[in-house]
Amino acid sequence: MKHSSSCENMIKYQLVARGITDERVLKAFFKVPRHKFIPIDIEHLAYNDSPLSIGEGQTISQPYIVALMMQTLELKKDDIVLEIGTGSGYQTALLAEIVGEVFTVERISSLIRNAETLLNKLDYKNIYYKFGDGTLGWQDGHPEQSEFDKIIVAAAAPDIPESLTGQLAMNGKLIIPTGNRTFQQLVVITRTEDGYVHTNEGGCMFVPLIGAEGWEK
Ligand code: SAH
Repeated sequence: MKHSSSCENMIKYQLVARGITDERVLKAFFKVPRHKFIPIDIEHLAYNDSPLSIGEGQTISQPYIVALMMQTLELKKDDIVLEIGTGSGYQTALLAEIVGEVFTVERISSLIRNAETLLNKLDYKNIYYKFGDGTLGWQDGHPEQSEFDKIIVAAAAPDIPESLTGQLAMNGKLIIPTGNRTFQQLVVITRTEDGYVHTNEGGCMFVPLIGAEGWEK
């Protein structure tokens, strides 16, 4: 009861009030219990307007930035989505509420293990998990999948990983924070018949994307 009214307030004051209008995104935020993805000792902060620590030096992103990225991708119900940076699994669940299939990659084994256990408990059947370096995309993942309609990167890269643009389907969209280690721009890349089109959605702050096509450490 307590959590459901906090969740409603989060949607109203943090998302709708700031311009999130995509009904599918708002509905997903209603359905996914954010407090279950937070360490128990800070569960009471789950619906706050901020990122929160999830251990291993990582964070669950601020609700608004997750909603903004999802709305910007114009998600469709048949989309096949690649998510880099599973973290707590919260955004994975939100995506799985809206699209056909979600392929998620995380480089910290304890995080992906915990996320998979929780998402199974919550009965999500349309998610595939990979432990490894997501800067390379779904390379060598199971089941095999070489192209994605949407790619969402939840960590900040120095440059746009070519492996990721190379795994975008025609008319597909990639969203990725790009910049230095403390401040980045949210960049959207759309694959069109005439090449890749870049747009900038504004400033943001994410933990670093670490890997072969990201930061060294
Ligand atoms: N979407 C997550 C946010 C997690 S923060 C959530 O809702 O909780 C970003 C995550 O990206 C961290 O868990 C971090 O370990 C992961 N990450 C960083 N570099 C990565 C890489 N190269 N491949 C996969 N995951 C990576």
